[in-house]
Amino acid sequence: MQNKGSAQDIQQFRAGLAGTVLTPDDAGYPEGCALWNGMIKRKPALIAQCSSTDDVVKAVRFAREQGLALSVRGGGHSAAGKALVDDGLVVDLSRMRDVQVDPAQRVARAQGGSTWSEFDAAAHKHGLGTTGGMISTTGVAGLTLGGGFGWLMREFGMSCDNLIGAEVVTANGDVIEVNESQNADLLWGLRGGGGNFGVVTRLDMRLHPVDTVLGGMIVHPIDRASDALRAVREFNKTAPDALTIHTALMTDPDGNRIVAYVCCFNGDPDEGRNVLQPLIEWGPPVAVDLNPIPYPVMQTILDEGFPPGLNVYWTGDFIETLSDDVIETLVARFGEVTSPLSALVVEQFGGASRRVTAEDSAFVHRSADYNIAIISRWSDASDPDPHISWARGVRAAIAPHSAGVYVNYLGIEDGEDRVRAAYGTDAYARLAELKAKYDPENAFWSNQNIQPAR
Ligand SMILES: Cc1cc2nc3c(=O)[nH]c(=O)nc-3n(C[C@H](O)[C@H](O)[C@H](O)COP(=O)(O)OP(=O)(O)OC[C@H]3O[C@@H](n4cnc5c(N)ncnc54)[C@H](O)[C@@H]3O)c2cc1C
Repeated sequence: MQNKGSAQDIQQFRAGLAGTVLTPDDAGYPEGCALWNGMIKRKPALIAQCSSTDDVVKAVRFAREQGLALSVRGGGHSAAGKALVDDGLVVDLSRMRDVQVDPAQRVARAQGGSTWSEFDAAAHKHGLGTTGGMISTTGVAGLTLGGGFGWLMREFGMSCDNLIGAEVVTANGDVIEVNESQNADLLWGLRGGGGNFGVVTRLDMRLHPVDTVLGGMIVHPIDRASDALRAVREFNKTAPDALTIHTALMTDPDGNRIVAYVCCFNGDPDEGRNVLQPLIEWGPPVAVDLNPIPYPVMQTILDEGFPPGLNVYWTGDFIETLSDDVIETLVARFGEVTSPLSALVVEQFGGASRRVTAEDSAFVHRSADYNIAIISRWSDASDPDPHISWARGVRAAIAPHSAGVYVNYLGIEDGEDRVRAAYGTDAYARLAELKAKYDPENAFWSNQNIQPAR
């Protein structure tokens, strides 16, 4: 049983914080415990809703002094729910969302609780942007620290490849700068190593010219799914890096099972339409909804389909190539899907994301052509077992083709073996050394945890 801090200690901690401290007795506590994944029902002893780096320092020190377990909440999207820790203290950054843009340097400085919504809006004012999550409510920090797939990754690399600096509050409450010249070893670790090394209170992200993109969907009926996956596989072999296509086997709002190419072309919309013409003509599709839209709008087109509060079992694996075998497996398994809210998404990888070496980042799965996202979702009214079994079954079926796992897609029941699989032996060993240097007592363990090297 953990110490939960005496009432007097908590009172003093509360009085010293500019932000708010919530206990289970306080109004606002249930909302403070709500994560995007409605399946997560953890009950922290304290939620420290920090409003500054100074607050974060106080919260980390208080937890350490009191022997409380620590967790860090950024955007609250992790399906594994490790942003909350039972009986411990949550460093909640949801009030730290400021994003400052330096257009001359093409750098955005984002507080550790900002979401892509704030980030994209701030950068767009200057005609700039960077690779970010495809749902605008996802946290910049959690996504970037684990890697970061997005519409621009084939042109500008993953989010973590664009992380050029950070402010970090370490396990003993020190505030350190991390960049190419200060604590540079940790910069490598923050690019993929997750929340293992401390609370990241500021992320410095490289920006690129991004303004209007051609974005939207090309939709086919599900009985064409195998051919549609083969067609996009062939198309992708020569597609430019400015174009990214994720292919979803899903159910539309009218209850029809469909296969959707979700596309983003960063460049002249007419050129994008020309590039996409073979896919626009193929089939033909039942619907083509591609439009010139500002990049921040592109970042929201899927938001409605991913509301918070549903029960979610999210998992997946990288695959080297989209073989006929994988295609047939995905199509057959989607035929057994247990909920209209569930989907299988073939996420395109490659381009600039591939032109990064193991020396540049802790994110190692650079050679895969695709990542398969297995997203099982259901409402409270439904028995979870069939939905979880379905997702487990899909993963087991593609396991022979697995080329590793994306740490940000690890789910509720994934343990140390899957974390190791996310990094491979060499990167894991290097991360473990960093962990031993920056968090030797593993104070930050409520995450996809790297064990400190001895
Ligand atoms: C709807 C949805 C859409 C998604 N889309 C994408 C996508 O397009 N691309 C992609 O790559 N991934 C995507 N993901 C996965 C996403 O990258 C992970 O869930 C990620 O962990 C979310 O970060 P967060 O800050 O929102 O989550 P949180 O749950 O708040 O944090 C997850 C973990 O990250 C760490 N962390 C968060 N913030 C900090 C911080 N400031 N300092 C230190 N550690 C921190 C902590 O260990 C925490 O447990 C998506 C997930 C969901 C649910």
